[in-house]
Amino acid sequence: MLRLLRTMRRVGRIAVPAPPSPDVSSQDSPTAEPLPWSGSLQIRHVDAGSCNGCEIEIGAAFGPVYDAERYGARLVPSPRHADALLVTGPVTRNMADPLRITYEATPAPKRVIALGDCARNCGAFAGAYGVEGPVSDIIPVDVEVPGCPPSPEAIVDALRGLTGR
Ligand code: SF4
Repeated sequence: MLRLLRTMRRVGRIAVPAPPSPDVSSQDSPTAEPLPWSGSLQIRHVDAGSCNGCEIEIGAAFGPVYDAERYGARLVPSPRHADALLVTGPVTRNMADPLRITYEATPAPKRVIALGDCARNCGAFAGAYGVEGPVSDIIPVDVEVPGCPPSPEAIVDALRGLTGR
């Protein structure tokens, strides 16, 4: 324990300095309207068929370096506690109904973020036999984050566009 405290004191804060708030109007998004709960966003992540590359970047975005929580974004374990769904991957046949059910279980008003090229247009998995379609074919999408995978900076920017911080 003492060793850990010494290391924390020696290393100090490692989060990157907060850049200026992103320009929401410049985001690649179908709507990206300001949210009534601006300032705080509780997010339920749904892996609808991802290769897990996007999940690694989400982990980085919420890790100590990019620290998305300092902008009011927080991952929660249930759609019933969520304001937004963060969906990755092309939607596989097995995940289409669970995604619809998760969307219905999320209280309104809510937002859906399609994260990564697969979520936007099936990406590398387009035409695969087990793929139902992009996220927008299953549930309404509000914000899209391009990239394969998107960088942690792009993920944090998209979330800041919704929290307004
Ligand atoms: S966008 Fe790229 S990293 Fe993300 S799930 Fe698809 S293939 Fe994997």
